[in-house]
Amino acid sequence: MMIDVAVIGAGMAGLVCARQLSQAGYSVLVIEKSRGFGGRVATRRLYGTCADHGACYLKPKGVFMTQLTELLVERNILQVWNGTFIEKTENIVSSMQPRYISSSGMSSIAKFLAQGLEVILNHRVIEVNLNSDQQWQLTLESSNEQIIALALVIAIPAPQALMLLKPLEGNFLGSTFINKLGSVEFFPSISVMAGYSPTSKPLPQWRAITLENNTVLGWIGFDSTKRHNPSQPVFVVQSSADFATANLEIETEDLQSVGLQILHTAANVIGFDWLAVPDWIQLHRWRYAFPRTPLQQPFLAAETPQPLICCGDWCGGNQIEAAIHSGLSTASAINSQLQRFGELKESDFLENLN
Ligand SMILES: Cc1cc2nc3c(=O)[nH]c(=O)nc-3n(C[C@H](O)[C@H](O)[C@H](O)COP(=O)(O)OP(=O)(O)OC[C@H]3O[C@@H](n4cnc5c(N)ncnc54)[C@H](O)[C@@H]3O)c2cc1C
Repeated sequence: MMIDVAVIGAGMAGLVCARQLSQAGYSVLVIEKSRGFGGRVATRRLYGTCADHGACYLKPKGVFMTQLTELLVERNILQVWNGTFIEKTENIVSSMQPRYISSSGMSSIAKFLAQGLEVILNHRVIEVNLNSDQQWQLTLESSNEQIIALALVIAIPAPQALMLLKPLEGNFLGSTFINKLGSVEFFPSISVMAGYSPTSKPLPQWRAITLENNTVLGWIGFDSTKRHNPSQPVFVVQSSADFATANLEIETEDLQSVGLQILHTAANVIGFDWLAVPDWIQLHRWRYAFPRTPLQQPFLAAETPQPLICCGDWCGGNQIEAAIHSGLSTASAINSQLQRFGELKESDFLENLN
């Protein structure tokens, strides 16, 4: 398969980049290893409901992100998560700064952005190389199909991009580029999703608590308050980075007890014993949850004549907003290198969504 631009990763950065380029007129293919869109903007369907075990909400800061959020609210993809949020232990912050969620799960944002794009799901890119025609050639796991592209965007966490690109060091890629990619480290996190008896009492009056100095916990969210008419209380609890680091490699059969340990600690913190005794529990291990040492630039471009750009939240920040800016900046840079169309602007992206 021969295309103009191959984008590895259907997270926020990859999707907005692919969308902007394809709307300009390029042929674009997104390749994603998992079975859904969104990457760390993730929602799991379970026990007749859903839970956001990745990004919990969107809190726009800049003008562009505010406009995009308003558009997603108009389309009924996002709603305001009303209520009280507790940050820094005793400091109660009400919803003065709105947090936006999706009642059908945060991954709805990604599904919306992926509309009209050509995407191959369930296929991991295991090798990238330049072929004899000086085009990018991508090899997929469990598929004989080779993807050939004029330009390559790698919109995945830097350590995963490093694994793909390290073999090209000294060949097509210089050490400066590889060292910069290698300098980006990530914090891990373990997310616990837990459902409780509908008769559980008392229920918290808050929506979420952020914990800064707890050795086990990072965040407790009353996830079912995002849903319409929830049939039972559902919580999502994120571990601290230290706890995740210590428990990331444990055997699958021990995961359940790690999850219960997290819930037990959360029950102690909020003072509700029933939180330690869920009806059901599921865990997700995020090896690359939050960039620890993000780069202070919107993308990382290689000096190859054939465009190759890495992007994601680790370029410029650590949240959805940074990932989106990084993806859009990458689209502009790819377009400048391929020189086929006029300048691509963030405002074009919004206009094309309308
Ligand atoms: C637990 C948790 C809570 C968070 N809470 C918030 C929050 O409340 N608000 C907020 O704004 N942000 C939050 N974030 C951060 C936010 O989710 C990320 O900043 C953002 O989603 C990153 O997007 P991305 O496109 O850069 O990368 P990703 O979302 O990581 O996307 C990369 C994609 O590439 C795919 N991929 C990787 N390697 C390959 C390969 N070899 N071949 C094919 N596909 C591949 C992955 O499967 C993934 O889909 C949270 C993150 C976590 C983990």
